[in-house]
Amino acid sequence: MSQARPVREQAARQGDADALVFFGASGDLARKQIFPALRAMVEAGELSVPVVGVAHSGWDTDDLRKRARESVLERGGPDDAHLDTLLGLLHYVDGDYTEATTFARLREELKRVGSTRPAHYLAIPPSLFDDVIRGLRDHGLHEDGRVIVEKPFGRDLASACELDDVVSTAFAENSVYRIDHYLGKDEIMNLLYMRFANTFLEPVWNRQYIDHVQITLAEDFGVEGRGAFYESAGALRDVIQNHVFQIVALLAMEPPAYQGYDAVQIAKEAVFRSMRPLTRDDVVRGQFRGYREEAGVAADSDVETFAAVRLHIDSWRWAGVPWLLRTGKMLANTSGEVIVYFKRPPQQLFDDAHEDDRPNYLRFRLSPVSRIALAARVKSPGEEFRGLQRELMMNTESPLERAPYERLLAGAMAGDRALFTSRGSVEAAWRVVDRVLVDHHPAVAYEPGTWGPPEADRLAAAVGGWHHPVPEPALDADASAKENS
Ligand code: NDP
Repeated sequence: MSQARPVREQAARQGDADALVFFGASGDLARKQIFPALRAMVEAGELSVPVVGVAHSGWDTDDLRKRARESVLERGGPDDAHLDTLLGLLHYVDGDYTEATTFARLREELKRVGSTRPAHYLAIPPSLFDDVIRGLRDHGLHEDGRVIVEKPFGRDLASACELDDVVSTAFAENSVYRIDHYLGKDEIMNLLYMRFANTFLEPVWNRQYIDHVQITLAEDFGVEGRGAFYESAGALRDVIQNHVFQIVALLAMEPPAYQGYDAVQIAKEAVFRSMRPLTRDDVVRGQFRGYREEAGVAADSDVETFAAVRLHIDSWRWAGVPWLLRTGKMLANTSGEVIVYFKRPPQQLFDDAHEDDRPNYLRFRLSPVSRIALAARVKSPGEEFRGLQRELMMNTESPLERAPYERLLAGAMAGDRALFTSRGSVEAAWRVVDRVLVDHHPAVAYEPGTWGPPEADRLAAAVGGWHHPVPEPALDADASAKENS
């Protein structure tokens, strides 16, 4: 059994990294997300060590600085002293990841900047991991180092295990930081906080009181020119197996036994392990009309742009409670929402009991705004015992929210693994979907702007149907803020 170790102690043991080696520094992710995050880390006092970009663009350090500057400005970042500081931290090593000389040059560069505990960030396609990990190992660059790995962590159980095996040839599990940027979002972190920082939820948070749970992550846009990438992914791989399952794990986990990374990981992994592997009848796959005309998409593609799933968690707490999960592109709106429906009271004492048949619920609106609502029936004024279900709402939106990459990279640099996923969790999550990735019904066509194919209704028929997220009304506080501005 692994030894309990609080986050702080573990961080102290691994210490802060003394350089960030950035594989993929000339790539798309670097440009869109990472340079702005690095500038913000400088501003927050979380980055003051050298950043060594490695790619085969034939660049030098000035080219890398030019790219970093453009990237920050393109994303609306300020042209200020923090940006200048970041540019001053940048170094560049040019070379192919398949060639040993690249890593020899990297070793020289790290020696020159005085690094002995580098963090190697693999912002590169997984097909290159093998080469990079081998290069690092063969040149001793893994010793006292750590590795930050971008998603996807494989495309099925076998490839995830292969990837983990490759990484483990050079890095111990506690030196591996798997990035799922979703876990760095405040509204997702709030699921964990809300559950375990409050007393009132725990007594009812189980199969005795919860009827079922619905989770929707919807987008009203398509693949936006990334058809070729999407053809190798699909909604089950791209969203359900990682983002949606992570949300399920945070909602379904047992209380972590102590304050620390291991405790949260153990509790989450137990959820993945108690998920019943999906069968073809638990899944409805859809494809929006027009997808096959996208560039890079096969004319007869069966890749799903929509997936609805009925999941069961065979644990003491959740036995018999269906979890209905949905994601898709070109849906009716862009929204993320979790609704936890409670069971009805044992006696329907009042005349209006069946007029609005929705039971009480707790609703987490994750996007585009962040709110939590608790719905309860309250009596309307008058002699009769009639009422309405009303929402008590908390606005959890904050202008101070940090970008997920900023938070995650800062955590990895500081040796804090709280927001990263373990090998056990990743592989257990793949085990749940592995069969339906190959054994499934064909994708059913659906019209853009709808909630996916009507076939998905079958999965939710026993619980009264899907709840479709609607645009959030402005809250009084929002309205008065607007009035006052
Ligand atoms: P890109 O294809 O845009 O970038 C790949 C990078 O790897 C480039 O810097 C490229 O250098 C370098 N590279 C490729 N082959 C070699 C080689 N043989 N030797 C040296 N350098 C090489 O990928 P992305 O930035 O889009 O994605 C990177 C990772 O991040 C992927 O795992 C992806 O799934 C993940 N990701 C991406 C997101 C995005 O929005 N793009 C979002 C979330 C995750 P050069 O420019 O010199 O060719």
